[in-house]
Amino acid sequence: MDLQSAQIRAIDAVDKLGPDLVQLTQEMVRIPTETHPPTGDEGPGQEHLASYLTGRFGWKVDSFLPIEVPGIEQHPGWWPGLDYTNRPNVVAHRRGVGGGRSLILNGHIDVVPAGPAGQWKYAPYGGDLVDGRIYGRGSVDMKGGIASMIYAVRAIELAGIRLKGDVIVESVVNEELGGYNGTLACCVRGYQADAAIVTEATECQIMPAHKGGQGLRLRVPGRSAHANMWWRGVSALDKALELKGVLADFEAERTAETRHNPYFSDPERFPLPALVNTVWSLKAGDPELMSPPEEAVLDFWCDALPGEDLDTVIDRLEARLNAAADADLFLRTNRPRLERQTIMRPFYPTSIPLDHPIVATLAASYRTVVDSKPDIVGFSAVCDAMIFNLHSPTPAVIFGPGDLSLGHGADEYIEVEQLVRASKILACAIVEWCGVA
Ligand SMILES: [Zn+2]
Repeated sequence: MDLQSAQIRAIDAVDKLGPDLVQLTQEMVRIPTETHPPTGDEGPGQEHLASYLTGRFGWKVDSFLPIEVPGIEQHPGWWPGLDYTNRPNVVAHRRGVGGGRSLILNGHIDVVPAGPAGQWKYAPYGGDLVDGRIYGRGSVDMKGGIASMIYAVRAIELAGIRLKGDVIVESVVNEELGGYNGTLACCVRGYQADAAIVTEATECQIMPAHKGGQGLRLRVPGRSAHANMWWRGVSALDKALELKGVLADFEAERTAETRHNPYFSDPERFPLPALVNTVWSLKAGDPELMSPPEEAVLDFWCDALPGEDLDTVIDRLEARLNAAADADLFLRTNRPRLERQTIMRPFYPTSIPLDHPIVATLAASYRTVVDSKPDIVGFSAVCDAMIFNLHSPTPAVIFGPGDLSLGHGADEYIEVEQLVRASKILACAIVEWCGVA
C-alpha cells in the first residue's frame, strides 16, 4: 500500500470511528481524575482506560506507578514530595513490522479540580454533548487529546495498515500543577522513540516549543505604627506597589528583547511574549489592626522563552528589584526578598527546530486533512514536552485538539469537530512517520 492510499484509508477509518471517539472522551470526562498535590485521583480513570484498551481493542498495556520505576527517585528530573498511591501510568506499545521510525503519543489523564459547582452550567463530570461540544473538566485539557491519539492508532489498525515503526501510546499521571513525574517515569522505564507528540490542546496547530518560567513570591517589609500616627510607619503595601512597577518595567524590556523569538514573534498571538507583571495574589495588613501593613506578599509568574536560561532571567529580575530597594530610604535597610515558589518545579523552556522532520510530517498531514497551511508557533504554557526534551533522547512536539484557553475554567469543553480533525491529522502523521509495510 502506498502512503497516499494508506492515509486516505486512515482518514476514512477515523470518520467511521467518530462516534466511538466521542464516547471514549465522554467516558473519560465522567471519571474525575483530579490532582490534589501531594496526592491525585487518577487511579479509577487509568483503570478504565487500561481495561478499555485491553478489553475492546485487545491491546497489551503496561500499568505502573511512577515510584516503581528503578532509579526514578535519583533521577535529576524527579520532583520530590508527591504521593503516587493508586496513580499508575498506562502505556500501550504497538509494535510495527520493523524498519520504520518510532513515535510516542503522550497525554496526561489528571485534571485540575473542578472548582465551585455553582460556576458551571453543565455538570463538571457529566460529559454532556451539546451542540457539538463535550463539556466537563478535563475535556480539553486533555482527555480529548488522549482519545484522539488512541483512535488515530485504532483507525490505522482497523484500516488494515501495517506500520513499519512502533507506536507507543502513553496516558500519564501527575502533569497538572507541575508534577511531570508521570512522563519522566515513562522515559526512565525505557520508552523512547524517534519523536514524541504531546497531544495538549493547540487547536490542531503545530507547536515545536513551549515556554518555561517559575512562580515567584516577593516579600516586602513595612513598619507598623498607631493608625493615628500613620506617618511614623511605613506601609508595606505602598512599597509593594512601587516594586510592582519594577515588574511592569522589566516586562516591557522583556517584550522588546523577545519580540523576535522564532516561536513567539507573532504579535497578535503573543502581545506579551514574556510575562512578568502577573501578580495574582497580594496580601498585606490585618483588617483588625488599622495600622500600616508590616508585610506585603506578592505572588506572580515570570516567563522564560526557548533559547533563554530561566535562572538568568530570574537573576536579572532580582537585580532590578535590588536596585529599586537600594534607591529607597526604607527598603535600603529593610530588604525585600524574592523567593522561588516550591509547590511547582521550575519550568525550563525547550524547543525542537522549526524544520524538524516530525514538524514537517505534522504540517504535511495537516495540509492533507484540512487543505490549508498550519501555524507553526510556540505553546504559551508548559507541558510534558519539557520532560522529553530535557530528560530523554526523544524530541517532542505539541499538537492536539481544542482551545487551551478553555482549560481549567468553568464549562470547559472540546468541540467534536476538533477531536475528529486531530485524530485524522495524527493518523496521517503516524502513517507517514512510521512508514507503511
Ligand atoms: Zn494539560
